Amino acid sequence: MSAAVAGAADAGTEAAGIGATRVGLGYDVHAFAAPEADRPLILGGVHIEHERGLLGHSDADVLVHAVADALLGALRAGDIGEHFPDTDPAFAGADSLVLLVRVGEMVRARGWQVVDVDTVIIAQAPRLSPYREEMRGRLATALELAIDQVGVKATTTEGLGFEGRGEGIAAQAIVLLRAAGEGCAC
Ligand SMILES: [Zn+2]
Repeated sequence: MSAAVAGAADAGTEAAGIGATRVGLGYDVHAFAAPEADRPLILGGVHIEHERGLLGHSDADVLVHAVADALLGALRAGDIGEHFPDTDPAFAGADSLVLLVRVGEMVRARGWQVVDVDTVIIAQAPRLSPYREEMRGRLATALELAIDQVGVKATTTEGLGFEGRGEGIAAQAIVLLRAAGEGCAC
């Protein structure tokens, strides 16, 4: 038994036996700031060239927040707002990848390992495909995964809705966890 699993047992968490799986779904939205606010646009930990950034207490990384919420959902451990409240000055302007690292540690401490992550960013602009591989790499590194275990896609809404009007960006994420048992390399 790995130290992580022993720790999880000590903490009274149950990973439900070897071979058990969980899925988690995450969704997040942030509104764009006005151009004069001079906020950077950060998605998946990557600085994206755009005239407007997203509003938020932290760096407003909507993609990372969706992934963190998906992981917390799979753990049945609440959501990102509970763990990293936006009333806490410690998280003002925070690098959301640091929060994701902490959620990844929580996953392992509770006796689970991440099998797969897929995401979609919903934004009318800017064009995100040039940044996709870098976003995958940053997310994978934060969660100690191989890049093949992380998917990032982007779509527009054909001009419909708040994303289509350029009022903000949404992101969705889905994760699969597997109970970390004996014989796993985690
Ligand atoms: Zn958020």
